[in-house]
Amino acid sequence: MSGKKRKFVIIGAGVAGVAAALAIREEDGDASITLVDEEADFPHYRFMLGDVLLGTKDERGIFIKDERFFDEKEIKLRRGQKVLKLSVTEKYVFLSNNERLTFDAILISVGRREVIPSHLKQYSRWLSLFSTLENTLTIKSRIPHAKRAILRGKGFNALELARVLLRSGLEVVLVTPDKRLTYPSMPEEENEDLRRIITEAGILLREGEDINRIEEKNMHTYSVELLSGDRHRR
Ligand SMILES: Cc1cc2nc3c(=O)[nH]c(=O)nc-3n(C[C@H](O)[C@H](O)[C@H](O)COP(=O)(O)OP(=O)(O)OC[C@H]3O[C@@H](n4cnc5c(N)ncnc54)[C@H](O)[C@@H]3O)c2cc1C
Repeated sequence: MSGKKRKFVIIGAGVAGVAAALAIREEDGDASITLVDEEADFPHYRFMLGDVLLGTKDERGIFIKDERFFDEKEIKLRRGQKVLKLSVTEKYVFLSNNERLTFDAILISVGRREVIPSHLKQYSRWLSLFSTLENTLTIKSRIPHAKRAILRGKGFNALELARVLLRSGLEVVLVTPDKRLTYPSMPEEENEDLRRIITEAGILLREGEDINRIEEKNMHTYSVELLSGDRHRR
């Protein structure tokens, strides 16, 4: 060992990136560790976004660790900076603020991104994903103006969002393009149980359907047309 400080760059400051930074710090008290994330928000637990939406937790309540902890551990956070380029041969990353960070070791923990499906991109300004603190706060700001929410998707995130919006007093329509509410590995009987629970809870389930068109009626009111031709007002 030359005694030179090793430089680690971690792309993605979700639970995986933060856990990796802490593990590196435990192994190497001198290393330079930089966590880069394109989201401007402080690293937080995504699975708690429903609590923020419901108002049972504030933003700070879902932070993985607080600012002081990162300072004490000497883990540098670069928030709101997207990694645009990575060179493993020249050992650098290039960030959206035009900065170049060099490294001895790189770790990629970028998770999975939800995206608006291509046939709905033209309506993006009226749609929200439920994946980051930022878009959760956007959804939250829309709740007071809404009577009904139309959700599109499947899996636990869609069900969590449906649960929270229902508890916030909205009528909820869940449009699932697939015939399954969750993942293929879930047995059909369990899928059926889930279907029953959801329907009994008051969620209007539209399985095997998709959104075809969205029209703005007036501020905060939209008409959503499904492929079958059915219309729902949001
Ligand atoms: C609402 C909701 C509820 C959930 N509930 C559960 C649950 O109950 N149980 C469960 O097990 N899981 C749940 N999940 C999933 C869980 O949150 C994820 O599995 C977990 O966040 C994955 O952690 P990660 O660190 O691998 O990735 P992420 O949390 O996705 O973090 C990756 C980070 O990489 C950043 N990034 C990506 N590309 C770049 C780039 N080019 N430059 C810079 N930064 C970049 C992203 O901004 C992001 O912050 C839920 C997710 C959501 C959204």
